[in-house]
Amino acid sequence: MDSMMTTDEASAASSALQKKAQFIYATLIEHFGKPIFQGGDDPVHQLISTILSANTNDVNSDRAFEQLRQAFGDDWEAVRTAPLDAIKAAVRPAGMYNQKAPAIVATLERIKHDRGVYNLDHLALLPVQEARTYLTALPGVGFKTASIVMLFCFNGAAFPVDTHIQRISQRTGVSPRRANPDKIMRIWEGLLPPATFYALHINLIRHGRRICHAQTPRCDLCPLQSICDYRQQAGEWAT
Ligand code: SF4
Repeated sequence: MDSMMTTDEASAASSALQKKAQFIYATLIEHFGKPIFQGGDDPVHQLISTILSANTNDVNSDRAFEQLRQAFGDDWEAVRTAPLDAIKAAVRPAGMYNQKAPAIVATLERIKHDRGVYNLDHLALLPVQEARTYLTALPGVGFKTASIVMLFCFNGAAFPVDTHIQRISQRTGVSPRRANPDKIMRIWEGLLPPATFYALHINLIRHGRRICHAQTPRCDLCPLQSICDYRQQAGEWAT
């Protein structure tokens, strides 16, 4: 909150931001449809995929994951006990394989140590904050990865923020212009109910890919232009 604001002004600002968030949620559903959570991905699978996806694109990380499966099947014990060079070779397409291969092994070791099996389904029963604390203690797992696991495996009350969501949040004014992904995640989680997170996450990414491009946003076609700070300011600021 701005320290010069009165309590009434702060409360009005917060209510205006909430209305803006609700408008974005509803408008993107009107525009792109409502994505429905179809049942969760396996959390260990999701965790390893997300570790592979750091600093690369979907094509490369999917290829690395597929090569890992071809080499070791669905057997996480075989991955954990394999020679590190074999894992590095399998995940090489994802880049940073010297960091990602040991992070995968260390993560599997930790899960096996904690749970006795390669299964994280117990996270569904924990409050999301507790689950994120557990996940972020795993090697190579940050807040974003933990939130992806909670949202895509359990439809949990977590709102991961990728580069599209960061850009749109800043441009529309849902977040401050220089806010980092963790701060933006907290803002969205405070503005809307968890039941909206899955559809909103998917639709913001669609919006970023199809309309609110990083370099040349297609503002004339945008259904959010009436509430967008960037648009109101004639695109005169850089993100
Ligand atoms: S009006 Fe332009 S900058 Fe704003 S959300 Fe739409 S495309 Fe992005």
